[in-house]
Amino acid sequence: MATHKLLLLPGDGIGPEIMAEVKKVIAWLNARGGDTFETEEDLVGGAAYDAHGKAISEEAMQKALAADAVIFGAVGGPKWDGVDYEVRPEAGLLRLRKDLELFANLRPAICYPALADASSLKHDVIEGLDILILRELTGGVYFGEPKEITDLGNGQKRGVDTQVYDTYEIERIAKMAFELARTRRNKVTSMEKRNVMKTGVLWHEVVDDVHKRGYEDVELEHMLADAGGMQLVRWPKQFDVIVTDNLFGDMLSDVAAMLTGSLGMLPSASLGAPDGKTGKRKALYEPVHGSAPDIAGTGAANPIAMIASFGMALRYSFEMVEEADLVDRAIAATLEKGLRTRDLAGQGDAVVSTAEMGDAIVAEL
Ligand code: ATP
Ligand code: MG
Repeated sequence: MATHKLLLLPGDGIGPEIMAEVKKVIAWLNARGGDTFETEEDLVGGAAYDAHGKAISEEAMQKALAADAVIFGAVGGPKWDGVDYEVRPEAGLLRLRKDLELFANLRPAICYPALADASSLKHDVIEGLDILILRELTGGVYFGEPKEITDLGNGQKRGVDTQVYDTYEIERIAKMAFELARTRRNKVTSMEKRNVMKTGVLWHEVVDDVHKRGYEDVELEHMLADAGGMQLVRWPKQFDVIVTDNLFGDMLSDVAAMLTGSLGMLPSASLGAPDGKTGKRKALYEPVHGSAPDIAGTGAANPIAMIASFGMALRYSFEMVEEADLVDRAIAATLEKGLRTRDLAGQGDAVVSTAEMGDAIVAEL
C-alpha cells in the first residue's frame, strides 16, 4: 500500500473553488483504504505574485520537484493585466513545465453519453467518442532559434520563427504514444506535414523507426496534419491516439476539445520522462480551461474538468486504473442523472453549484 505525495496548486479565479471538489475525491480515496494521498498546497499565478512578487516561489518549485504529481487549478485574471511579463501569472505554469521537463501533453476528448446532443456534431458522429491527443510540448516552432523580428530597412520587417526537432525529442513522444495506445485500442495516428516540412520528414522517419523497434503490435498510421484536422471533424471515432508536434498539437487538441462541448469538461496531463532509477515520471494535471474570472466566486464553475484531471493522475502517475475508471464512471453517472452546472445547462434544466456537482460525484463514487 503506497502513499503518494501531491502538490495542490489551486491558483486564481475559479482555481480554488474547483480544487476544493478534488479534495473531496482525495478524502474519499483516503478513507476507502488502499493507496493513500498526502497533500501539500501552495500558491501559484496571481496569488503567488501578490504574496511573493513572482508567479511561483522557489519553495513551491522545490515542493513540485519533490511531489509525485502536481495538481494545478488555473492562473491569471484581469487583476494582473499590468504586471511585468516575467512575473505574469502564466509564467508560473511555464516555469513548472520547463523545470519538470514535461515534454508530453495528453488531452483526451471524450463524449459522455448524456452530453452527446450538446455537441455541434451529429449524435452518431460524436456518441461514444474516446480519443487521446498527444502533443509534443517542449520543442518545435514555439522554441526554435532564431525567433525574431528584424527591420529590413526599406519599410519592411521580417518575422522569423524556426521549427526544430531532434531525433530524441521525436523518439520519446513516439514511444509514449505507442505505450498509451497499448492501454487503449492499440492504434496510433502520427500527424505532420512531410510534404512541405523537413521536420515533418524526420518526424515520419523517426516514428516509423520507433515502431519497428518494439511496437509493431500497435497499428501505426501516418496522416498529413491538414487532412488529419479534416478527418477529426468528419469522423473522429476513426482515431485512438493521435501524436503530433507542438504547433499542430496545439491546434488539433483545441479542435478535438470542442467536438465534445463545454470547456468545463476537459482534463489534461503533462508528463516528463521516466526517472532512470525509479521509473517514475514527473507530472502535472490541470483542466484545459482557464481561471474564468467572470464567474469566480459565484459557485457557477463546473468542477468536472478538474476532477477528471485528477482522474488522469490516478491513471497515469499512480497506476490506479480501477479508481480512475471509477471517477470517470461517477462523472458519467452524475451527468446521466441530469445534474448540470450552468455551462452545461440547456433551457429548462435545473442548475447545480460547483459544490453540489462535486458532492454528487463523490456520492456516486
Ligand atoms: P486562459 O487564457 O487561461 O486559457 P481563457 O481566456 O481562454 O483563459 P477561460 O478562463 O478558460 O478563458 O474561460 C473562457 C470562458 O469559459 C469563460 O466565459 C468562463 O466563464 C468559461 N469557463 C471556463 N472554465 C469553466 C468552468 N470550469 N466552468 C464553467 N465555465 C467555465
Ligand atoms: Mg484560453
